Amino acid sequence: MFKDNKKPEDNNKFNKNKFKYMIYYAIAVILVVYLINDYIVNTGSKQIKYTNFINMVSQKQVKEVKFTKDKIIIYPNKDTEYGDKILYTGRLEEDKEVLDRLNKSNVAYDQVIPKQDGPIRSFIFNGLLPFLLLMMIGRFFFGRIDKKLGSGVMSFGKNTAKIYAENETGVTFKDVAGQEEAKESLVEIVDFLHNPQKYSQIGAKLPKGALLVGPPGTGKTLLAKAVAGEAKVPFFSLSGSSFVEMFVGMGAARVRDLFKQAQEKAPCIIFIDEIDAIGKSREGNISGNDEREQTLNQLLAEMDGFDSSKGVVILAATNRPEILDKALLRPGRFDRRVIVDRPDLKGREEILKVHSKGVKISDTVDLNSIAKSTPGAVGADLANIINEGALRAVKNNREEVIQEDLEEAVEIIIAGKEKKDRILSGKEKRAVAFHEVGHALVAALLTHTDPVHKITIVPRTMGALGYTMQLPTEEKYLTTKEEMFDQICVMLGGRAAEEVEFKSISTGASNDIEKATETARSMVTIYGMTDRFDMMGLESMSNRYLDGRRATNCSEQTVAEIDEETLKIIKAAHKKSIQVLEENKDLLTKIAVRLLEKETIMGEEFMSLVKGEENDSMESIEEFDTNK
Ligand code: ADP
Ligand code: ZN
Repeated sequence: MFKDNKKPEDNNKFNKNKFKYMIYYAIAVILVVYLINDYIVNTGSKQIKYTNFINMVSQKQVKEVKFTKDKIIIYPNKDTEYGDKILYTGRLEEDKEVLDRLNKSNVAYDQVIPKQDGPIRSFIFNGLLPFLLLMMIGRFFFGRIDKKLGSGVMSFGKNTAKIYAENETGVTFKDVAGQEEAKESLVEIVDFLHNPQKYSQIGAKLPKGALLVGPPGTGKTLLAKAVAGEAKVPFFSLSGSSFVEMFVGMGAARVRDLFKQAQEKAPCIIFIDEIDAIGKSREGNISGNDEREQTLNQLLAEMDGFDSSKGVVILAATNRPEILDKALLRPGRFDRRVIVDRPDLKGREEILKVHSKGVKISDTVDLNSIAKSTPGAVGADLANIINEGALRAVKNNREEVIQEDLEEAVEIIIAGKEKKDRILSGKEKRAVAFHEVGHALVAALLTHTDPVHKITIVPRTMGALGYTMQLPTEEKYLTTKEEMFDQICVMLGGRAAEEVEFKSISTGASNDIEKATETARSMVTIYGMTDRFDMMGLESMSNRYLDGRRATNCSEQTVAEIDEETLKIIKAAHKKSIQVLEENKDLLTKIAVRLLEKETIMGEEFMSLVKGEENDSMESIEEFDTNK
């Protein structure tokens, strides 16, 4: 994104500046004249003590004296130590005999008649100059604050600094991969921007705005830019959170300004990122946020006010559509929703392809397998993986990126960088190895699980001391009850292996426990997989595109029952994984020993170890029973 700092009214601005500089220039000249004047008046004159003056008079060193309102100006004789200098001293009211003394020494004296300042002169010095000086000081200080805040305090509302504008985004739909549905719904908008008359002739009204909804990093900004790029129109963008930051009234002024600028440049795209920051529902909000509300109202007013036939289309992005104010979603505002969800396998492969275009990649690289190993990754992650891979290739002095670079990059994104300098004691290392093999073995021996791709006990910077990676053979959109239960068994398999081998347990399973509990809970509350609650919905996802926080929709008593039911599932899964590992204890030990030697075991090697000694007595997994 390149930032366009040029303001549209640049010509105007130049004139304004010129005027400003003229004023500054004038002030500078006046100041200099004033100072020089002062200098001339004061040079060559010197203050002396009153007693000195009396002495000089009595010693006949003084030629002439002039009285002013508060000073006595003394012209000494040429042969004194002061020479040509003019001296002065304060008028001492107590000394009533000054005149006698002067008379005695034959000194000429008189009173200076104060010069009456002409009206112009007095206006300049008493009125204009102080005023201009004050203004300059004010400017100076406010100018400072101005710069610090990055926006105009003085030029309130005219500020455009936070608006990003691009005349040509240069992004096209080709750059956005794996979002076919989203692109399809936006094609119409592109056509409209190309050719607004075509629509207005028939009388068709196009939506003023579309809301792009999806998790962070899925390419919402990119899509908005692509729409502008395809239609070859300017792109204005502003982040919702930047509206609501400083002073009350600022956000509204920004909105007004944004629309004004955009309408001048129509046809164009206005993109508002994180619109939930302003568009948060006003209901049930007791504390209230004046600033946000004002900004939202201004936005609504602007959206209603502008004439869409000119070709201004507003795109907004959010990952929390459920909290948006209903007013925003009314017809004539953001009445279209474009879902920009996490890409599926094919989408991920395409995104990888798009991003590997500018990178030298070996012909042997299989992007499909990288895509397979990154379920749940969004476009931003995938772009990052390609870049990490390229960095690793450079680090290893290679001219091309190879498969290994990308595989390592995937792990860096998932688990952090390898941390070879973290030294574990022998005992801890054994615990980690058994824990990880526990996960892997439960996964291999249960039926409804994904195959093991890799087991490693190389510590990673994001806190993992080791991990087991499972990869689905194909992209799945549905998960069965049996699969969910087996997943929980696999998650608990790590701790189970510690119990089976060491008869003691460690803190290493905290993350497993968290995930297992969450899965078990959603079986109870969201997916209706227990007999007790049948198909009753007990929780709903309130934050689907972010962390998936849940809201409970049931009585407190039921909440307690949910806990019981969740516990039942976890206990059953725990029991199952212990049973599986007890029955295959030799295999567990054998693979753990191999892992301690090699630190990393890949899926194929692992499976051949398992197959070599497969325990035929493994009966098929019976149902867990929640009705006991
Ligand atoms: P969002 O606005 O949804 O949070 P962005 O549009 O800012 O996400 O995406 C961040 C970066 O991730 C993009 O600049 C781009 O490099 C990459 N990216 C995300 N989604 C895609 C995609 N579908 N195709 C190609 N690149 C993508
Ligand atoms: Zn674990």
